[in-house]
Amino acid sequence: MSTPIRSIIEKRPLLISGPCGAETRDQLMQTARAIKETGKIDMLRAGIWKPRTKPGHFEGIGEPGLQWLQDATTETGLPFMVEVASTRHVELVLKYQIPVVWIGARTTVNPFYVQELAEALKGTGVPVFVKNPINPDADLWSGAVERFLGAGLPAGIIHRGFALYGNGLYRNPPMWNLPIEMKRRFPEVPLICDPSHICGNRSELLGIAQTAVDLGMDGLMIESHIHPDQAWSDARQQITPAELNALLDKIIWRTAGIDNLSQFQPLQSLRDEMDVLDLQLLQIMSKRMQLADAIGAYKKLNNITIVQVERFNEILNRGLELAKKFGLSENFIRNYFEVLHMESIEHQNKVMNE
Ligand code: PEP
Ligand code: MN
Repeated sequence: MSTPIRSIIEKRPLLISGPCGAETRDQLMQTARAIKETGKIDMLRAGIWKPRTKPGHFEGIGEPGLQWLQDATTETGLPFMVEVASTRHVELVLKYQIPVVWIGARTTVNPFYVQELAEALKGTGVPVFVKNPINPDADLWSGAVERFLGAGLPAGIIHRGFALYGNGLYRNPPMWNLPIEMKRRFPEVPLICDPSHICGNRSELLGIAQTAVDLGMDGLMIESHIHPDQAWSDARQQITPAELNALLDKIIWRTAGIDNLSQFQPLQSLRDEMDVLDLQLLQIMSKRMQLADAIGAYKKLNNITIVQVERFNEILNRGLELAKKFGLSENFIRNYFEVLHMESIEHQNKVMNE
């Protein structure tokens, strides 16, 4: 391979695609060729070991697949990335010179595995992309990234959404606040989005990919397969390389960098106005909590319990009514009043037990 791997992963946007899993030599070679043909993809992906929820499903082709990946890279010039979940996987990936790895959502949850993987990879210089854990825990996700950075490895972050109990529009709802928090914690580490595992279907891919771009993510990883309907895993979310090409054409790339934002004067004025409102909101919150303290003191004197369910319902319902009028979402106002109420209770609790 001619281009050094570091410069490939530093490309923006970084675009990665390939099948959920390597299945046969033909499937892999045909998919890789068709992806190469789009001219849009920087790196290929394929699972060699697949973590499956239940036994009896396709658990990955294993070592023979690594040779196919090597051959596909030789032919297309595109490097591959592979998921590793054990030190045995790391040994094999190094043996076949796979240049980049990722850590799957079911591995990121376990600090023992993550630490072992970091130690196994130490000194190799292999970039490690860390998928979010299946549960929405920013500390667990960060901790895994820190373990790889701590081992001196170049790291990346992949947002693939968070497990959902029951059925919803998405297989793994995105909970965008978490990847935003990761960007805040690791501004230098590339953060890419995996719309395929968020959606679990084909129809929502573009919407999620566009949101990721709008939020300033550094790239996308999208599953593609030469015959998606016949895929041995994740068939419903995979698309053909031709569909991938069309999807990438529809995305509107936001290219203005944060280093030249000062030239956008109207943006600055809007932000200034927002800062003034935030200050006022904080002053009002503080006044509201002073009232909570006074109420707490009164309740203490008169032996009245802190929580009055009817009172909270009354506040919440009035808030929801007004929210409609003011164009605020029900979800936001419900969350807002719940947090506000909890804080009020804490204030009163403190006053009562002083
Ligand atoms: C995958 O990328 O195919 C995969 C198994 O992903 P995740 O770990 O996000 O479920
Ligand atoms: Mn998959």
